[in-house]
Amino acid sequence: MSAAIGFLAAFCREHPLDDKVLLVPSFVVGRQIGDALAEAAGSWINLRFVTTSMLAAEVLERAGEAGAARPMTPSAELALTDRLFRELLAAGELEYFGRAAASPGLAVALHRAIRELRLDGRTSADLRPGQFLVERKGRELALILARYETALAADGLLDLAGLLGGAARAAAKGPLASSWVLSPLDSRLSRLEAELVRSAAAGRLVLVPGDPVVGLDRPRQAWPAPGPADLSGAGRLTWLFAPRQAPPEKEPGLEIFRALGPANECREILRRLYAEKVPFDQVEILTPPGSDHATVLYLFAARTGLPVTFGDGIPVSFTSPGRLFFGLVAWLAGDFSSDELSRLLENGDLALPAGPSGTALPARTACRLLRNAMIGWGRDRYLERLAALREGQEADLASLATGEGEEDGEDTDGRRSGFEETIAGIEALSAAIGRILDLVPRPDAAGAYDLRRLCEAFARLIGEFAGTVSDLDVRARQALLDRLGEFAAESRLPDLPLKEALGLIRTAGVSLRVGASPPLAGRLHVAALLSGGYSGRPYTFVAGLDEARVPGRGLQDPVLLDEERAAISPSLPTSADALRSGLYGLAAVLASLRGRVVLSYSSFDIVEGRESFPSSVVLQAFRLLRGDPGLDYAALEKALPEAAGFLPGGPTRAFDETDWWLDRLTAEPRPDGRRSVAANFPALAAGLAALEARAGDRLTAHDGLVDIGPLRAEVDPVNGGRAVMSATRLELLAKCPFGYFLRHILKVQPPEEVAFDRSRWLDPLQRGSLVHEILCEFMTAVAGRGEDVRTAQHAGVMTGIAEAHVARMKLRVPPPSDSIFESERREIRETLEIFMAAEEKREIKGRPLAFEMAIPGESIALDGRRSFRLRGFIDRVDLIGPDTYRIIDYKTGNPAPYEGVVHFGRGRTLQPALYAVAFEQMLARERPGSTPHVAESGYLFPSRRGEGDEIMVRDFDRGRLRSLLGDLLALLEKGYFIAGPGAKCDYCDYRAACISGGPERSAVKREANPEVFAAYDKLDEYK
Ligand code: SF4
Repeated sequence: MSAAIGFLAAFCREHPLDDKVLLVPSFVVGRQIGDALAEAAGSWINLRFVTTSMLAAEVLERAGEAGAARPMTPSAELALTDRLFRELLAAGELEYFGRAAASPGLAVALHRAIRELRLDGRTSADLRPGQFLVERKGRELALILARYETALAADGLLDLAGLLGGAARAAAKGPLASSWVLSPLDSRLSRLEAELVRSAAAGRLVLVPGDPVVGLDRPRQAWPAPGPADLSGAGRLTWLFAPRQAPPEKEPGLEIFRALGPANECREILRRLYAEKVPFDQVEILTPPGSDHATVLYLFAARTGLPVTFGDGIPVSFTSPGRLFFGLVAWLAGDFSSDELSRLLENGDLALPAGPSGTALPARTACRLLRNAMIGWGRDRYLERLAALREGQEADLASLATGEGEEDGEDTDGRRSGFEETIAGIEALSAAIGRILDLVPRPDAAGAYDLRRLCEAFARLIGEFAGTVSDLDVRARQALLDRLGEFAAESRLPDLPLKEALGLIRTAGVSLRVGASPPLAGRLHVAALLSGGYSGRPYTFVAGLDEARVPGRGLQDPVLLDEERAAISPSLPTSADALRSGLYGLAAVLASLRGRVVLSYSSFDIVEGRESFPSSVVLQAFRLLRGDPGLDYAALEKALPEAAGFLPGGPTRAFDETDWWLDRLTAEPRPDGRRSVAANFPALAAGLAALEARAGDRLTAHDGLVDIGPLRAEVDPVNGGRAVMSATRLELLAKCPFGYFLRHILKVQPPEEVAFDRSRWLDPLQRGSLVHEILCEFMTAVAGRGEDVRTAQHAGVMTGIAEAHVARMKLRVPPPSDSIFESERREIRETLEIFMAAEEKREIKGRPLAFEMAIPGESIALDGRRSFRLRGFIDRVDLIGPDTYRIIDYKTGNPAPYEGVVHFGRGRTLQPALYAVAFEQMLARERPGSTPHVAESGYLFPSRRGEGDEIMVRDFDRGRLRSLLGDLLALLEKGYFIAGPGAKCDYCDYRAACISGGPERSAVKREANPEVFAAYDKLDEYK
């Protein structure tokens, strides 16, 4: 039993019926003391647990002064400080503090200084410039404090200092009558708190002794010790800082371990509990401020269901409403980035409301639609782009009705219902996003935001859209709504730039914690080091005792320096006081612990990859443990066992599945994991069989040697009839049949590119299609006038057309910045100039006849019996002689892959020849009796890299083309979908998903499969 509980038990026995008030730092602590007392002393009555602010409220209530002013929360005090600072800054009255612009960090620092001054009973009148190292700072701090005092009086507000001060004055007139006021002897109180407690108690103040701390001076803010401490019942840790004076140890109760990082430290704690079968509700884990341990334990609990209570709750950012709150801040700060909104939807933190059907649009669908709408960022683009997406889907649906949209023999009904579903989804998403955007206020003409309205918008967004799957989520939502309400009430600032407004709103949520709980049956309890240790549990782990964190750095307050504090008031705590108080508090907590105490620290920072060292507290504990005050860090290092790491060190110590697997996989004899996996998971067994087959010498179905049997009608363009080919599709078959298999047989779609790259405006595809559209319109206009392209004459026409297209594209795809847009616009203009120059110097001018000409499904014969259908678009056809034509395709990319093509490029550059044949057939049919001939067909590269060059195919043998197509389609017919020996995997969309092993792997199997490679090698004959 701790000394405090023992004392309280005795006091309750002596004064059972008297009213007793015990001051506690929080309700959670009060409840723990009550439980420990009941366990130690049996029943007790008439003991109430109150915080100092509750005591103040009670005193004011009894004095009839309770309703005189409205109490403020710390965040309301912070908001008020920030507002006053900004007002003074705007009025030009802050030269010293004005050098640092208004920011949440500065507001927090100023608020802390004002709070401490006021809790010490100081007013603006007590501050004199001469007390400060820089007089100007003193004047300005006094000014801010004076405005703060005036604002409190004018608005009838009561900050904590006002509440305590008012109560102390009221209590001086009439104390808490018959109540005993019990205050822990080691409590560190501000001057106003101490005054209140003394006045409220009058002559009935009882100081509750804690367990004595030997070897450390008492902090100035604690009650003066009434006499020498009674060491008779003290626990061993009482002598942590005086090991030389410690009595001999009666039974071992203190242990120390180290671990590789906080996560392994927490794992080691849990492993010890598992190994020793210690019930969770016998254990309390104490963690120092700012450490990651509570977070790690929370994450373990969330993942594994580990039952844990947190004495200080958890940060609101761990809950779904908290993530939505911070996500909304990031969304607005990122100019309504659609990536940020998608993240919130995907995580379920932003829950869309149910539509008329009663169900909400699934998050994945909503994210897909957001991506397809190409919003990027910008508030006004959401509804505009979603409307455009909807129009596109409606057009596709309409074209399906006329048969235009039919493709590859796909199921028309399925596509129709797909379009209808998408349109309904867009409508639902537009309605939800419309509502969200309606709630977000717009800035004023100068681009500034009304903070109050922004707070209210956040509150409504969280109220309407926060996902709440747990009780904690519900509490977090309420806590955020309350905090935002307070912030809105205190926000009387002039309109602010968005960044500043969001910074302030963010500050409102940063310190918010929810779910604080006393220890509960069946659960581990985690508490903060300085406010824990009250559970009375027999096992206590004190984690995170690293020198970087414990006992702390003792840094000076940046607003009120130590020297200035001393000059203002002898009772204002300095950095040395804070350090001493922290260390004494830690020593007092440790001294109060009974039973088994395990101290631990992290000896390696895994993230930074460097060693970390134990706190001096650990060294003291080691000295105490060994009874040798002369031991140093080297002795500690030598004595401690190896740091606990990722391996649990035995199956009984495995805390979760990860531990269990790591233990099993490293145990001797090593288990046959492969066999166990295959026996238990049929799908993985099939995967292992596929790996084995791929590793063999022969090609198998797993390398792409497949029988397309039942799919033939759908996928074989020659023997099936439903598949329609394109030049690109045929070229892919020639480049890499395995890639063709993935894309056109299995219909695996590469993931849509979702990230909007802030370093560029258009991706290569978008830029290519923009240039195509411009060139098509330009050439149509010039050809319509019967003129040849002349730069001097047509530059204006080109500019006009280009600007209109670029402007339209800019609306569709938002550029990340003006400078990036301008730079890409310049490049596009350069491309167009190169094009005009190339056209101007063309030897055979010809007459452009058609642009963007469709090949709607032309039958291409392979031989007398067999054919397939071809679909495509010809960029441009020129008439260059009697019934003689030239086909041009514009390419904005790199010409390198086409260099060296004679006619067919081994089937990998089929388009020029294929389009020529298709065009000749189509024209001959349109003009019976004519014998149209395409004399040249190829590519024009109007880019900086292409320099306006052309690569043309001329005089190719139409019979050879048919033979090539026959050989190529035979690969498909026979099901030879191997990784192409010449495949360029580096440029392949399927690279991340391809399991073929690539050309290197297939080459190994050449010898064992001559017929397959012979069929593929035949393509090499068609240069
Ligand atoms: S990654 Fe290589 S082998 Fe695989 S599909 Fe693409 S090109 Fe073919």
